[in-house]
This record gives sequence, structure tokens and C-alpha cells, in this order.
Amino acid sequence: MERVEERFLRYVKIDTTSVEDTGTCPSSPNQLVLADMLAEEMKAVGLSDVRRDEHGYVYGCLPAAPGYENEKVVGLIAHMDTSNAVPGGPVNARMFLYEGGDIVLNEEKHIVMGEKEFGLHRLKGQELIVTDGLTLLGADDKAGIAEILAACEYLLAHPEIPHGKVMVGFTPDEEIGAGADLFDVQGFGAEYAYTLDGADITEMEYENFNAASAVVHIKGNSIHPGSAKNMLVNAATVGMQFHGMLPVRETPENTENYEGFAHLVSIEGETDHCVLKYIIRDHDMEKFLARKARFEKIAAYLNELIGEGTVTVTLRDSYFNMKEKIEEVPWVLDRAYAALEACGIHAHPVAIRGGTDGARLSFMGLPCPNLGTGGGNYHGVHEYVSVTQMRKMVEVLVKLVSVR
Ligand SMILES: [Zn+2]
Repeated sequence: MERVEERFLRYVKIDTTSVEDTGTCPSSPNQLVLADMLAEEMKAVGLSDVRRDEHGYVYGCLPAAPGYENEKVVGLIAHMDTSNAVPGGPVNARMFLYEGGDIVLNEEKHIVMGEKEFGLHRLKGQELIVTDGLTLLGADDKAGIAEILAACEYLLAHPEIPHGKVMVGFTPDEEIGAGADLFDVQGFGAEYAYTLDGADITEMEYENFNAASAVVHIKGNSIHPGSAKNMLVNAATVGMQFHGMLPVRETPENTENYEGFAHLVSIEGETDHCVLKYIIRDHDMEKFLARKARFEKIAAYLNELIGEGTVTVTLRDSYFNMKEKIEEVPWVLDRAYAALEACGIHAHPVAIRGGTDGARLSFMGLPCPNLGTGGGNYHGVHEYVSVTQMRKMVEVLVKLVSVR
């Protein structure tokens, strides 16, 4: 049996950064390299029906133990790509026993992960893997992949453990929001699933934002400023007025937990024309709808004041809170809590301030909460993974799919 961290260290050597707006799937060729490698490893550990499709999705099956063919089919899902926020490679990983204090990632370049700043005290006594501070690690989400395959290998080596059929799925392009797009829910054939794409393994995630984008177009009327009275409409000024009518404190930098926001992503404008781009987020559906309605109301007010057609708002939904879908199948959460508890982990729910592929999959008919993998500080050079937690999670997965 291979150690889970050995698998992990092999996967992070391949830089699978996903790239925005390529119009292709996968968005970067290295994702196919990892996909092929995973498909080979899945066959090697003994999974059946392993396939890698043209878009880089990899699927495989762990057949039910004899006599347990009628159990509900469960899916385990992780993503292969990594965030493009910082360089995705070459990853120089280092494993050590964390005994407290600041962690020097790169002595030469003075890159340090401060104990206080990053709340590291809770990791004391755990074995960690970090980088040299120049790249991300890729624990998001290669830790999830390593844990799923390690659990499959364990189950195949222990045929006495009773379990139903387990489906395994690895997806590309999660970080650019496209991981669920081409997922073959039908072919996967699982009744419920879990993404292994969270952070600390004590965190259970099944609530995420409802999300939309808003583009505000403002049409100005550019007139020579010397003879502009009652005629000139300055689109840039109207843009500022529009923004000024949104709640000042309801922005990402002023909110946490279940507080929603509208975030001005970009503003571009001149007298003639102005465009403001926003993202709108709220866990609560009613509040989410009210946030979107506010955009329309402000536009209507300004149009009445300045002239019809001055302000146009285009709203587009991105994804929804999976909570309503998960609450229809409460046993999916119960099973996960029970498996964690059986391994000595007291988990608690954490509301995701973002989305997950699991949220999209939940609305595509595959209820899919998110479990932690033991990683942290994602999308940055301070990313780490706790090997201690990875090993624990392999145990949890074995418990999770086995019949009790
Ligand atoms: Zn992730």
C-alpha cells in the first residue's frame, strides 16, 4: 500500500493551473497529463471501468463487495486543476513535523508563515507539507485525489470490509468555475456524492452562496462642456451615483459568515460611456433576490431622473446555495458526520463564502456536500497540507462508504 503523502507528492509535481477564458476544456494541457496518470493509477489499484474523456474528466468504479450490490451508489469527487492566483509550479515540497512557531518557507527570500497570522497553533504536533514559498502547493485539490485513491486501494486490499458500489470522479477546471459543466452525472450513476475539496477535516460544508453577476451599462451624452447646460449626461458621474446608492457596508471587506454583499469588480468609464461590473452574493435566497432587485430599482430611479435608456442592468445567475438540495436528503450529511465521528473527528458545519462544484452537481441531480482534506491557506504561497489529517481522512472515507 502506498502512503497517501507519496501519492500527493507525485501529483503536485505536475503544474495543472487552470486558465481563464481559453474556450477549451480542459483549459490547460497539463490537466490531461495528470488525468492520464490518474487513469493509469486507478487501473493499477484495481478500479474497474476506468475512462478519461476528451475533456479530461476521469471516472472509475470500485465494485460493491459481494452481497452489497443493492446499497446506494456513492460518489467521491475531487478536482485536478489548481488556482491561477500564484504560480502553480515548479513545486518544491517539504514535509516535517510541526512543533509550533513560525514556519520559514524560504530562508533566502525571507518568506515566512507566521504562527499567529495564520493561526498555526491548532496544527501543532501534526506532520505538514509546505512549499518553498514561491508557488502554491496544490493541496487544493490534489490532497482530495490522493485521499480518494488511497481509500480505494485500502478497500481493494481488504475485501472483508462490506461496502456498496463506489464511483470515483476527477474533474478539470474547478478553479475557473467550469468543473461541473461537462460532468457526466448520468454515466456516473451515483445516488449521492461528496467532493473532497475543503480545508480542515473538522469542517462540513453544504451551504454556499447564491451567486450572480451584474453588468451596469451607462449611456452618456457628450456635449462640448462650454454649452452643455441641461444637455450633457456624464456617464462616469452617473456610474458613481449608481454605486453610491448601493449599501456602503455590504461589501466583501465588511462582511463575514452569512452576510451577503455586492462587490464592484471593475469600473471603466468616460463622459460618453461607463461600465460597472459586480458580483452579488448571499446565502439566503430571499436576500439574494432583494440584492438583485436593488440593482434594477436603482437603474429605474436613475432612468426616471435622467432619461429612459441611460442605465441598463444585465443580471446573470452563476450558481445557487446547495443547502436546499442537501436538506432533501439529510441522511447524506448524517452518514458523513457518523463516519467522521467514528474516526474521532467532531465536525461542524461551515458556510462556504463562494461556490463549489458540489453545489452545481447538487442542482444537476447529484447531492454533493463538501468534506475537508486537511489542507489550508489555499490559492497562495502559504498553502500547506497536514499529512496527519490526510491519513485520518483516508480512514474516514473507508468508514463513509462501508456499510454499518
Ligand atoms: Zn478546490
